[in-house]
Amino acid sequence: MDTKKVILTGDRPTGPLHLGHYVGSLQKRVELQGKYDTYILIADMQALTDNAGHPDRVRSNILEVALDYLSVGIDPGVSRIVIQSLVPELAELTMYYLNLVTVARLQRNPTVKAEMKQKDFGANVPAGFLIYPVSQAADITAFRADLVPVGEDQLPMIEQTKEIVQSFNRTYGPVLVEPEALVPKVSRLPGTDGQNKMSKSIGNAIFLSDPTDVVATKVKGMYTDPKHVHAKDPGTVEGNPVFSYLEAFDPDAGEVKAMEQSYREGGLGDVKVKGRLIEVLEAFLAPIRRRRSEFAGDAAGVMRILTEGTLKGRTVAARTLGAVREAMHLDYYTEGRR
Ligand code: ATP
Ligand code: MG
Repeated sequence: MDTKKVILTGDRPTGPLHLGHYVGSLQKRVELQGKYDTYILIADMQALTDNAGHPDRVRSNILEVALDYLSVGIDPGVSRIVIQSLVPELAELTMYYLNLVTVARLQRNPTVKAEMKQKDFGANVPAGFLIYPVSQAADITAFRADLVPVGEDQLPMIEQTKEIVQSFNRTYGPVLVEPEALVPKVSRLPGTDGQNKMSKSIGNAIFLSDPTDVVATKVKGMYTDPKHVHAKDPGTVEGNPVFSYLEAFDPDAGEVKAMEQSYREGGLGDVKVKGRLIEVLEAFLAPIRRRRSEFAGDAAGVMRILTEGTLKGRTVAARTLGAVREAMHLDYYTEGRR
């Protein structure tokens, strides 16, 4: 019997994946995929909660996100990539869990609150958006995940999932597995604007698939310390995204420390720091781009990977749903035959 622990993570197919996804989640997935039973969900139903009018955006990004996974080293021989909407068991679980959560609790979720403000919904919040943490709880528990590698913005979702698991197990019996979040060292990469978290939907992202010249243009346009006008002026490193990226991606940590010190003291210009960052990102992204173009040449092969991953994922989710229905006394046909 397979006794490996389980990882479930995922991404919304709302755009290509970026550097924030890499440090926040992808890196850990690649590192742990051999050790854990890994399921990676392309969350198209969740993407639709704020993209109902843009089904083509969601559809076209399924392949993009899958290519991003493969290009950073997700191994389809080990990890299963699952398309959320093709596992309807997840939607059914969501319906049952919704009764274990209050509207007030949903409205208190700090990440959802911040996102609603950022998306300017006003009074027109899609109901599906408000409840997406519950659908995430369905995703996590359906695969019986022990560990969920995520960025810091997702911690409230894991918290809410735990509450749902506890409530379910208390009410119906011990069926669901309580997950733990795995938050990496760099848990929230800022955007190129320096203000927000890097996010596909805000226009402040450097994508894993950006070509060399686009990366260079984005880095040159990055926010830095606005008070650091001349190279000789002392500058601030804290909250300066150029240094955040160097800290996350420059393999030479000593060199980054030295640059930070000289920037603080005055004498190091932004152009020079950005030049270094362009080099560092190029070294990081070049092999990713190469692998991406190899997989992109075989779209049918990538679709096969998705089909197989989804099939396997559906089997596992159906098993969990069966146990859930039984615990809830909804097993009308099979009761007594088990
Ligand atoms: P959207 O703007 O559509 O919500 P997103 O960029 O926030 O897109 P998601 O698909 O919502 O990306 O997030 C997928 C995973 O990547 C989550 O685990 C999330 O915590 C992580 N992540 C996203 N952005 C960052 C970031 N800037 N820093 C660290 N982790 C991140
Ligand atoms: Mg997000």
